[in-house]
Order: sequence, then structure tokens, then C-alpha cells
Amino acid sequence: MDIINLVIAIVLLSNALLGFFIYKNNSRALVNRSYIFVIITILFWGVGMIFYRMVDQEYVTLWCKLLYTFATFTTPTFLIFSFIFPKGKLPSKKEIFIMVIFFIVINYLILFSDAIISSAEIPKQGENIIHFGNIYYLYVLYFFSHFFYAFAKLFFKMRKSNGVQKVQIKYVFLGYFIATNLAFATNLTLPWAGIFVYNWAGQVLTIIMVGFTTYAIIKYRLMNIRLIITRSILYAVLVGAVAAFFALSVIVVGELIGGNTRSSKIITYIATSFIVVIFLEPVKRTWAKLTDNIFYKDKVDYQEVLRQVGNVVAREIDLYKLLKGTSQLLAEKLKIKQISSFVPNTQGEFHLLASSVKKELDIVLVNDVVNYLQTNKRILIVEELIRDLGGLDEKFEKYKILDNFVSSAEKQRIEMVVPIVESDNLTAILIFDAKQSGDLYAQDDINFLELLSPQIATAIEKSKLYEEVEELNKELQKKVEDRTKSLKEANIALEDRNKFLTTIQVVTNNITRTLNLKKVNQMIADSIASEVGYIGGMLSFVDSSGKYLKVGAITNNEQSRKAFHILSKEPRDYATKIEIDYNLGAQTFLTGKINFSDKLSDFLCPPVDKKEIEEIQQILGIKTIVGIPVFSEAKIIGVIHFYLAVKREKISSLDIEIMTALANQVGIVFRNLKLYNTLQGANAELQDANTKLRELDKAKSEFLSIASHQLRTPISAIKGYLSMIIDGDFGKIPKSIDEVIRNIFESSARLARLINIFLNVSRIESGRLKLDKRPIQINDLIKGVIVELINQAKQKGLKLEYKKKKQDPPLIFADADKLREVVLNLIDNAIKYTPEGSIIVTVDSDDKELNFRVKDTGIGIKKEEAKSLFRKFVRGSGVAQIHTGGSGLGLFIAQKIIKEHDGMVWAESEGSGKGSLFQFTIPVYKKHDVPAYKEEAKEGMSSDLSS
Ligand code: ADP
Repeated sequence: MDIINLVIAIVLLSNALLGFFIYKNNSRALVNRSYIFVIITILFWGVGMIFYRMVDQEYVTLWCKLLYTFATFTTPTFLIFSFIFPKGKLPSKKEIFIMVIFFIVINYLILFSDAIISSAEIPKQGENIIHFGNIYYLYVLYFFSHFFYAFAKLFFKMRKSNGVQKVQIKYVFLGYFIATNLAFATNLTLPWAGIFVYNWAGQVLTIIMVGFTTYAIIKYRLMNIRLIITRSILYAVLVGAVAAFFALSVIVVGELIGGNTRSSKIITYIATSFIVVIFLEPVKRTWAKLTDNIFYKDKVDYQEVLRQVGNVVAREIDLYKLLKGTSQLLAEKLKIKQISSFVPNTQGEFHLLASSVKKELDIVLVNDVVNYLQTNKRILIVEELIRDLGGLDEKFEKYKILDNFVSSAEKQRIEMVVPIVESDNLTAILIFDAKQSGDLYAQDDINFLELLSPQIATAIEKSKLYEEVEELNKELQKKVEDRTKSLKEANIALEDRNKFLTTIQVVTNNITRTLNLKKVNQMIADSIASEVGYIGGMLSFVDSSGKYLKVGAITNNEQSRKAFHILSKEPRDYATKIEIDYNLGAQTFLTGKINFSDKLSDFLCPPVDKKEIEEIQQILGIKTIVGIPVFSEAKIIGVIHFYLAVKREKISSLDIEIMTALANQVGIVFRNLKLYNTLQGANAELQDANTKLRELDKAKSEFLSIASHQLRTPISAIKGYLSMIIDGDFGKIPKSIDEVIRNIFESSARLARLINIFLNVSRIESGRLKLDKRPIQINDLIKGVIVELINQAKQKGLKLEYKKKKQDPPLIFADADKLREVVLNLIDNAIKYTPEGSIIVTVDSDDKELNFRVKDTGIGIKKEEAKSLFRKFVRGSGVAQIHTGGSGLGLFIAQKIIKEHDGMVWAESEGSGKGSLFQFTIPVYKKHDVPAYKEEAKEGMSSDLSS
């Protein structure tokens, strides 16, 4: 066999090996299968070449035709592969149809005509020569069209895809492109030109495809058979190395031992076997280490990464920092291009929160990915899912869902998805881009991440809680700040109000000290500047005619004096007509509304000259004038003008309140002073009346005294004479006048009693009531009175009885005459005020006091009148009709007398018409009671009271 055929065979072997590995590792995938087909056709084509180069002249045309037929197999398979690769669909039926037709036509022409290949011959030297037919160009076109279409397809796929896939396509594209272009030259074009030297090169050039593909398999996981191919290569090298080592050992040991005998050979083998056995393991290990360093130089120490991630997870409480740290650490340690962490917002959309790269854009994870994860809460490797997709029927729903997920994932350059699940809720999604090495994610990675994700889940939960607490804290902080602010504001408002109250207080204090309205007005006008702090003010009041407002007071300070000095008249000499259009002051008065203006002239002009007013405003620096009506008891009595140094919009509501309060104060003071003055007048009148009454009373008392004294003597004489007449001292009275005489006697007796009463009153009032107390027996006194009044009672048909007890009552210490007056008055009243029935007199006593009672069945007393009857001149209501002759003095005197005896007198009655009970108490006589006559001179004593 010549060297070229050997080379072709080796190349074919490597092709076959590649095909074998692909088949062995993953023959299910459509791509892999289509690639295997490509290799098979290459093998046929290669074998065809070997035969074509080896056969004799006899068969060379046949093999040539077969070789060219085999070649036609390679292109459709490659074209189909270009449809499928990396994960496409099969060509359409139409395309297949065209391909098949083209294929059949070309092969028919090759095999059954001379139109493409007419014959082949073996030259003495060099490569076989082929005589092409006249439509060989169709054959060239066949290849060109297929390759052109296939490369165009691959090229566009490469352009469209990204990531590892792009690189994969690139390598396949490059390998094939270089090889086919070269082969196109060597195997199609050059022979056409009669150059057959490199006719075999096409087959050898397939090694370029194998090389590129293998590289892409190892480096970029092409067709996912990386592991098996690398391992195989490694073992092949190891086996070779061991074999070489063994051979070398045999030679070296053989040299050392020397000789070429059988026994020396045996010794050599044994020795080398020992050496091999001893060194195989270390060599293997060293080799493994060496190769690991090459192929697994990115091998990860998961334990260490786990520890470090654990640190991050434990350290970071902030969700962003936690995910950022974790993503960065994982990306760095696992050598991943990018890891992005997505967390759901309130709408459940997963937004990018942290990424291992510097900048985070606001990316939202597509719904297909999220939805797929909601149902499949496990780590998903997109590449694997793609493979699964290959094994699924397109019609199934599952296929659609998975396809949606996969295509969405690919769009977002997702290689692996790690859901972070906390109590069956998706709390975050970690998205892994490709590994930097291009390695596929392996079971190790999944195991590791499965171990890690619960930790991250817990940490996220912790962070969320922390965030909530933070949020709450912030809210609280804000609330506290808000409250503090509003408190501060309230405080300021309070301070202002306090100032206001203090001001009003000071003003009120000042004005309540004086009762002079003029002074008060001035005080208020002054306080506008001194207390409130405005420029000043003016108080005007309606005059007595009710037609004009006149100045009551103007703030009196130096500045104001100077300003108002400009006026040509005294301020008080101006009068503002109370008419609505006269000026703003009049308007304020009439409407009762607060008015503002920035011109003083609006308020004061007329009557004041406009120029003068403008000058005054200028001097005082007045920016705003506020006119406030002064109310007093719902009536407007005047207006206050306040002069302020600020613009209208700067006047606060508190200012208005202060001004209104001051105006109200003026109103109140005005009313108070008016009331005070009225009161003063009334007081003086009352005092006058009082003095006059006193004088009258005195005159009356004097009259009574004089009249009584003057009347007493003649009446006593009349009574004496009449008594003598009745007693028959002047002879027997004729029957005809007997009764008349007796009546006259009775009347004169009554008159005497009345005079006595008047005299007693007069004595009492002048303080001349003197008692002559002695121990007396009240029985005697009562009996005397009964005798005196029995006739009177009888005349009225009344029963008058003294229900004397068997035992005499104890003695009392009393003025007999005066006490007789009392007893007499009480019984006399009972007779007077009893139209029918009886008058019962009783006396009770104990060792302390004696109780005298007169009970009648008369008109009775109204409850509310019982006490007042003992006052001077008081008579019961309605008694005047019953008894015209009463004076209303009897009980008054009785009370005074009993009081002088340290006793008490009072009246009781069930009411009108129910009779009365009059009674008095008086202390009983004690041994130590000393009669008055023994103490004092007898001079005060008088028998005046006796009748
Ligand atoms: P007068 O001269 O009116 O009797 P008194 O001071 O003796 O004056 O009595 C005052 C008033 O007390 C009488 O006007 C009468 O209204 C009332 N009064 C006194 N005694 C009786 C009585 N026994 N029954 C009813 N009213 C009596």
C-alpha cells in the first residue's frame, strides 16, 4: 500500500472514530445522527478513493465512476446537516425532492453514461487520469450548489445565534469551509484542468473538519460528547505512553543486563514488568493530574465556594448586597460569564436586582421562563432541555411549553436557571450565563447549587424581614418627624397665641384699672403700638347725633405725634359723615365688616386733606390699614384703624384676631362704663330716697309718741269716768243708756290699749323699753285677762276658756304688766280672728320653762305668713276685711317683750280656715334671779304700760 492510501486510511479512521464517539455518546440527538451520516458518506468516499488508486486498469473506470458516485453522497448529507445543525429542522419535502432528483440524475449520468466520466486510465507514473464527459460542469455545479446552499445556511445561522452556539457553528463552518474549498480545487477543478496530482487530497483534507469539529466538541461542547472524547484521547495517550515506557524499559533493562539470551530476555521482561507495575500507578496519577490541569484547570472546589457563599449569606442582610455578593462570588469561583438575580415585584414580575457584572439594567424576566419555573421548581439546564426537546413529539402541549421556555431562555442568553424557593414560593431566580470555559453545566454544579439554594432562600427571607423592619422603621421615623414638625408648628402657633393672650391680658389689665372712657380709649390706642407692636391706630366713635364719626383716640407716641402734627386741624375736630360712600371708615362702620387698604387716604379722606394724609402715611411708613368695627351689644359704636408696616398678604389670621379682640375690648369697656355710670346714678337716687325715708320714719315715730302721750291722759280720764258711771258712782244709769255707756267704755278701753301699743312701739324703737322683773304667778295674770275679755268673747258667741291645771305652774321671773300685754294681745287676737268656735288657753311647764298657748278655731294663718306676722305693721292677707281695726303692731310688741324675757313666741297653723295656735315660752323663776328693783334705782320703772 502506498503512503497516500495509508494517509487516507488514517484520516478515515479518525473520521470513523469521531463518528463512533458521537454515536456512542449521544445518538438520539438529530444533529448527532445527521453528522454521523456525513461521516459515513465521507468514509465511503475515502474508501472509494483507496480502491480507485489500488485497482488495475481493468477496473479503474468502474471505481472511478463509483468514487464519483460516492462523492455525490457527501454533499446532500452535509446539506441536510446544515439544515439541522445546531438544532434546526429537517429540510422541507420540496427541498428533499429537489435534492433527490438532482442526486438521481447526476448518479444516473455518472454510472450509466459517459457524459460526466467517460473513462479512467492508470499512467506509468503518478495519479490516475480521468477523461471527463462533456457535461462534467453539471457535476461541478452539483457540488457547488450544495455547498453554496449549505454554507449560506450555516453562515446565516451563525450570524443569528450567539454564545457558545455561535462559536460551535463557527468551528464547524470553518472546518468544512476550508476543507471543502481546498477539496473543491484538488478534487474537482484541478482534475478538470487535467491536473490529477492532488486528486486524493480531498479525502485527506477531511482531517481539517475532524480537527475543527473535535476542537469544538472539546472546547465548546459541540454535540455534547466532550467528556467521552477527552477521556478517550487521554486514555489513548496514556496507553501509548505506558506502551512506550514499557518498550523503553525493555530496551534500557536489556542494555543494562546485557546479552541476548532467552534467560536474559526473561529477566528483562520480569524486571520491566516490575518497573511498569511499580510505576504504572504513579505515572497514571501524574498523568491524570497533568491532564486534569489541562482539561479541568477550571475545576472548582465546591466545599470552599460553599463556605465563602455561606459567609456572604451570613454577613449581608440587605437583599441587594446579599444577591450581588452571592452572584459575584459564584460567577468568580465557578468561572461563569454572568449570574443575574431576579426578584419579584408586587405584580409578581421578576426584575433584575443584582448581577455579577458591574451594572444592573432593569430587565424583566420573560413570563415563559417564570411560568415554567413556577411549575418546575428545580434547577434547569437549557442545553439539557433542548436535548429533551429533541426527543419530544411536537404535537404535545409539553413540547410547546418546553419550546417556549427554551426559546425564551435562549433569547435571554440563559444557560441555567436556579429557582430559589421558600415554602413552595418562588422568591428569586438566579440566571446563569455560560461558563467562561464554555463547559456545560454538569451534575456537580447542580448538586452544589441544590445545596446552596435553600441557604440563599433563607437568607432572602431574612433580608425581606429585615427590609420590612427597615421599612417600618423608616415609616416610624417619618411619622416621628412629621409629628415633631407638626408639634413644632403647633408650638409656634401656641407661642403666637400666648403672645396674643398676654397682649390682650396686658391691655385688659390696663383698661380695667380706669373707669374713664376717654382714658381707656387712649390706653387702647397706645397699646396698639406699645403692646401689639403695630405702628399705631385710631379709635373713632359715633357722636351723639348719630351722623358723624369722631376721633376718640390716636396712638400717642413721638412718631405719631410728629406725623399727625401735619394736620391743619386738631384730629378731634374732623368729623366723618356716616354715609356709605364717604370713606372706608364710614363704610366699615355701616357694614360692620373688616376693611383693608394700602392707602390711609381711603379711610380718612375726606374729611382730611389727601396730601396731608399721604404725608402722614409716608412718615409713619404704613403699608396696610385695617378698619375694624367696634361692636357693643350688637350695635356698632365706632371703628378702629390699625396701621401696619407690612403688606396685606403678610397679615396673619392671628393679627386679625388681635385687632378684633382689641375692638371687642373697646366695645366691652364702653358697655361696662355705660352700665357703671347708670349704676352710679341709680345708687345716688336710692341713697336720696333712703335718707328721705329715714326722715319720714323718724317724723312718724315722733308723731306717734307725741300723739300717744297727748291722747293717753284724756282717754284715761274718759275711761275712769265711764267706769265710775258703770259702777253707779253717779247714780243708777237709766236703762236706755246703760248699753251705750258700756259700749263707750269698751271702745275707750280699746282706744287706750291702742294708745298703749303705740307707746310701746315708740318705746321699743327709741330703746326705752325697761322691764321690772319679779317672780310672778302666771295664773293670776291669765285670770285677769280672761275677766277683761270674756264679754268681748261672749258678744261674738265664742267660748273662751282657760284650762287651768290642778297644780299651779311654777313662778316665772317677769315684768307682770308687760307680760300681761302679751297675754292680752294673744287672746284678744284669737277673739278677733275667730268668727265662731272656741279659744282655749293652756299653760304647760317643766322645771326650766313655762309654755303659754292660745288655741283658736279661727281663720288660721297661711304657712308662709306665720313668721312675718311678728314684724312691724304686718297683717295677714285678707284680714283687713274681717277686722278693720287692726294695727299690725300687737305681735311685734309681743315678740320684743318675750325676747326681753329670754323667751320665744311663735305661731302655728294648719293653714287658712284651720285655726291657729299662738304660744310663747318663758324661763321659770330661779332663786338666783334678782329682781330689777333691788339692782337699780326705781326711777326707770313706770306704770305707763298698765292701763
Ligand atoms: P292686728 O292689730 O292686726 O291684730 P297683731 O300684730 O296683733 O295686729 O296681729 C297681726 C296679724 O296677725 C293680724 O292682723 C292677723 O292677721 C294675724 N293674727 C293674729 N292673731 C291671729 C289669730 N288668733 N288668728 C288668725 N290671725 C291672727
